[in-house]
Amino acid sequence: MAQANGKGAASALVIGGGIAGMSAALSLTEAGVKVRLIDRDPQWRVYGAGITITGPTLRVMKRLGILEDALREGHAADGLLACDVEGNVVAEIGTNGVDGGEYPGAGGIMRPTLHGILAARVRAAGIDVLLGRRVTEIAPGRPKRVIFDDGTLGSYDLVVGADGIFSDTRRMLFPEVGAPQYVGQVCWRLMTKRDPRIERRTYFLGGPCKVGMNPVSSAEMYMFLLEPQAQFQRVADDKLHIRLNELMEPYGGVVGATREKLSPESNIVARPLETVFVPKPWHRDRVLLIGDAAHATTPQLASGAGMAMEDGVVLGECIAFSPDIDEALALFMQRRFDRCALVVDKSLTLGRLEKSGATPLEQVRVVEDALRQLNQAY
Ligand SMILES: Cc1cc2nc3c(=O)[nH]c(=O)nc-3n(C[C@H](O)[C@H](O)[C@H](O)COP(=O)(O)OP(=O)(O)OC[C@H]3O[C@@H](n4cnc5c(N)ncnc54)[C@H](O)[C@@H]3O)c2cc1C
Repeated sequence: MAQANGKGAASALVIGGGIAGMSAALSLTEAGVKVRLIDRDPQWRVYGAGITITGPTLRVMKRLGILEDALREGHAADGLLACDVEGNVVAEIGTNGVDGGEYPGAGGIMRPTLHGILAARVRAAGIDVLLGRRVTEIAPGRPKRVIFDDGTLGSYDLVVGADGIFSDTRRMLFPEVGAPQYVGQVCWRLMTKRDPRIERRTYFLGGPCKVGMNPVSSAEMYMFLLEPQAQFQRVADDKLHIRLNELMEPYGGVVGATREKLSPESNIVARPLETVFVPKPWHRDRVLLIGDAAHATTPQLASGAGMAMEDGVVLGECIAFSPDIDEALALFMQRRFDRCALVVDKSLTLGRLEKSGATPLEQVRVVEDALRQLNQAY
């Protein structure tokens, strides 16, 4: 239990109710900290794309107590298939190395499903959630005094900025860190009925775009397609299916079959890939950045959400372990910096390889090496 009158954190404000913020709120509450969680969205919505969950992500879900729900409402399977543009298997990568195979190697889940599972936990833990609220000012000094956008005030031992890639907290506290950088790729995602041939994460490499498919439940799957594009050009919503159809044209097999079913009603999201990485430390005067606010990665290793959950869990563990907030934050940085840097760095390396037309084998080697390192304890 954190000490109310000592140097430990008795209260914390978590800004941002996404994957990182909810995980931190749960873990800090477990450490005995009184948490207020705010999100700017009055409806606490999340966009409806699928995400891939890796073995390490499943491991941290267990730590958060959401593994059973995620497995029931999502999908899990071992192994990762790398195929050519016609869908012929060129390599099979083992993914069942986490803690001696205690967890499935990989899986997928709809983002709103994961959000709903975490939000239910947050509510059940009795965490004070304020929606439709932002912070407009964080005063220097301790405790941290903040002004909310409705003019009310708050005072906390610790403030956690978990407000995503375009973090206002980062802009306020770390003005020297520039805006996220576009990396020259657009990520297309299609949520659709599951093709029975897609039983696990499957990549289609060696074509003009990198394409992947992954089940997100027993009935649904999502497809991603990474399009190289020097300057991002937004496609109107009613034209998304037309452009995606063109991009999928060179592919056969399951991708070709999925292409034939595209229609104006298809559930498609296209998003420019951007990245930002804050140099260490990610805290200043007892305000800490976590998740995408500190280390927004491109999705090649499918680990951004996993790292966001790990950040939250590790923060709670460090606060519980150390009676001093500054020591706890230093310990947090020791445990998180290199691991998150690895994800961002290797994901960007993979993006460069994809754009330069590197062979599937070269790309697979980078993925295998990174997965081996991420399987290690965090
Ligand atoms: C195209 C794409 C595909 C991806 N695929 C995968 C994948 O397959 N697997 C994977 O593990 N990861 C994936 N990721 C990464 C993953 O989505 C992110 O790493 C993860 O969502 C980060 O969580 P977060 O909580 O830090 O930020 P977010 O999920 O962005 O949450 C931030 C929250 O803060 C709130 N907020 C924002 N500003 C404020 C403010 N000023 N005040 C209050 N609240 C605020 C927002 O409303 C939101 O609820 C992908 C990312 C992209 C871009």
